[in-house]
Amino acid sequence: MNPFRYERANDAAGAVAAHGAAAAAAYLGGGTNLVDLMKLRVARPETLVDVARLAHDRIDVLPSGGVRIGAAVKNSVLAADRTIRSQYPMLSGALLSGASGQLRNLATTGGNLLQRTRCTYFADVSKPCNKRDPGSGCPARTGYHRTLGIFGISESCIATHPSDMAVALAALDAIVRVRGASGEREIPLGDFYRLPGTEPQYDTVLEPADLIVAVDLPPNGFARSSLYRKARDRASYAFALVSVAAALEIEDGRVREVRLALGGVAPKPWRATAAEAALRGKPATEASFLEAAEAELAHARPLPDNAFKIALARNMIVRALCDLAEAA
Ligand code: SF4
Repeated sequence: MNPFRYERANDAAGAVAAHGAAAAAAYLGGGTNLVDLMKLRVARPETLVDVARLAHDRIDVLPSGGVRIGAAVKNSVLAADRTIRSQYPMLSGALLSGASGQLRNLATTGGNLLQRTRCTYFADVSKPCNKRDPGSGCPARTGYHRTLGIFGISESCIATHPSDMAVALAALDAIVRVRGASGEREIPLGDFYRLPGTEPQYDTVLEPADLIVAVDLPPNGFARSSLYRKARDRASYAFALVSVAAALEIEDGRVREVRLALGGVAPKPWRATAAEAALRGKPATEASFLEAAEAELAHARPLPDNAFKIALARNMIVRALCDLAEAA
């Protein structure tokens, strides 16, 4: 690991100032991803600004009926929170499907959003990788890409985003609250991540000193009609091959509202807008669900070793929606 300077901030403004004043600084939350990347010399910050102890550790119900989750709230605390479990079960389920109990006890809400891809080449500094070393190439295209993306990818990078939590937040239309050099602002989760294009080194739209301070959930958490499903190579402590965050509201046998987001298939949580558009107003039947899944998957661009994700995603979308319809 490279030597680095450590600073502990007392508040958000102090953290932003400390980050802005330092060369090659990074915020340290739970450190469950960043410290690993530092040990591998993939990340080489010269200064770490510790934000894990800031007063952003509360989960508050807002006057609107929504919920504000502080960026320092631990994943395990968020998953177990009574309001989250009852009103946003999709989010609780996503959190519990990620990592291990020990990691969830350390990992923070803000850090979870900012974890880097688990593409094997990205973590191996002896290999080229456009995301780690822009312009060096993408060996995954012709190499190991079974776990990588089928949507939103580019010639430069086909990585997937590893977060389960972010997939549920995408389906829930969450808002990321960010503190930067010029104050606080809101970024809808759908606009928070960037697709790789020709600049895969940038995962998000954040500016260098921007600090995530909270995530807001809208009032409708689809309390009784949502779920999170995840297919992976082993039963726990594995990243998604494909995951589905789904919510469904049915009225008179027809789909009144639907939310679908996919994980493990794209450089960001993939909101399945084509499937959603194909379903609204349609009969809540397996045939409609299959048609909607096909509408989304028509946009997939798989490579030889990850084409299986199309059938897997199709089956998972249809099964998830059928189960929600049966429970309605
Ligand atoms: Fe790097 Fe992206 Fe290619 Fe993986 S897919 S090797 S992260 S450029």
